Amino acid sequence: MKNILADRTSLIDASGIRKVFALAAKMKDPVNFSIGQPDFDVPDQIKASAIEAINKGYNSYSQTAGETELLEKIRAKVQAESNIDNPAALVTSGVSGALLMLFMATINAGDEVIMADPYFVIYKHVIRMMGGKCVFVDSYPDFKLPVEGIEKAITDKTKLIILNSPANPTGAVYTEDHVKQIAEVAAKHDILVMSDEIYDTFCYEDKCPSIANYYEKTLLLKGFSKSYAMTGWRMAYAAGGQAVKEIIEQMTKIQQYTFVCAPAPFQRAAITALDVDMTEYVNAYRKKRDMICDGLKDKFEVVKPGGAFYTFVKAPQWASSATEFVKKAIENNVLIIPGEVFSERDTHFRISYATTDDKIAEGIDILNRLAEA
Ligand code: PMP
Repeated sequence: MKNILADRTSLIDASGIRKVFALAAKMKDPVNFSIGQPDFDVPDQIKASAIEAINKGYNSYSQTAGETELLEKIRAKVQAESNIDNPAALVTSGVSGALLMLFMATINAGDEVIMADPYFVIYKHVIRMMGGKCVFVDSYPDFKLPVEGIEKAITDKTKLIILNSPANPTGAVYTEDHVKQIAEVAAKHDILVMSDEIYDTFCYEDKCPSIANYYEKTLLLKGFSKSYAMTGWRMAYAAGGQAVKEIIEQMTKIQQYTFVCAPAPFQRAAITALDVDMTEYVNAYRKKRDMICDGLKDKFEVVKPGGAFYTFVKAPQWASSATEFVKKAIENNVLIIPGEVFSERDTHFRISYATTDDKIAEGIDILNRLAEA
């Protein structure tokens, strides 16, 4: 197949998470700490709304930017929560779809994108496919927003700063102070910020501060996948104020020629979802977070996360790398993801505690035993 494949295919690597899944294929009833989605099902009224939409014939293309009723509801929500006047919005096929369109709309070859390391894996690969360069700013060991490092990393090629809070893979929630400081840095250098807030429902202390409240050149990405456990329905949106309206218009144009629209019946269901209170689910996840952190803290270096459903834990001393520890964990029936998937380092591993309390307890016991192996 020489010469058939485009050069950009060599710029990316198969997802490391998939490689771990392949290793795990033979495991029987594992403690699965690798899943990036909640362990509850879509709430019944949202399912009913999707089924009703299909039965009522919402099965054709919607408008490119999304169903009017959903768009109106999203715009009202963004206006209320982010204090943005007359926001622009675009309904997308997942935050993944929005990311692809955002990077297509903004990144020229050689442009630099700054993000904290560890980072969500899609950013790095899609930016590379666009010919962009990722500039990673180390946020170990506490995973706080590395404001100073980000400012130092800015050059005249910087196109974008990415924030992701609550974060995947660390569960970190950035403080209001830090978010305000980054807003000032971005304003000083006149740089676009993308804020990936897909985990904003899973926030265990206070509300998660959003940079959209402090900086007008913020492109917000919000999703339904995690909040309502509908990862397979591919629903999300991009939104922002007048300062980023042109970007959202260009993304909409790209959507016309790529995704065409987000799935039409699920757009109807998303209208329902926006009124569903998920507090009960979030409370259950707060307990799971406490359980995992309390259970591992004596044998591992754990930073208590403020949100999402992940914790990023340092591999024990005896392991030469996180990957070595992950192999050992998999041999012992616990599925975790090595840090190198999300980082330029391979010292930590990601636990997703989106599983049953019984499985969490079983996983804690096994990992604690392996800490001393
Ligand atoms: N951003 C982050 C930080 C994520 O963890 C994920 C999913 N793992 C996504 C975006 C993409 O989610 P989706 O495409 O399902 O909306």
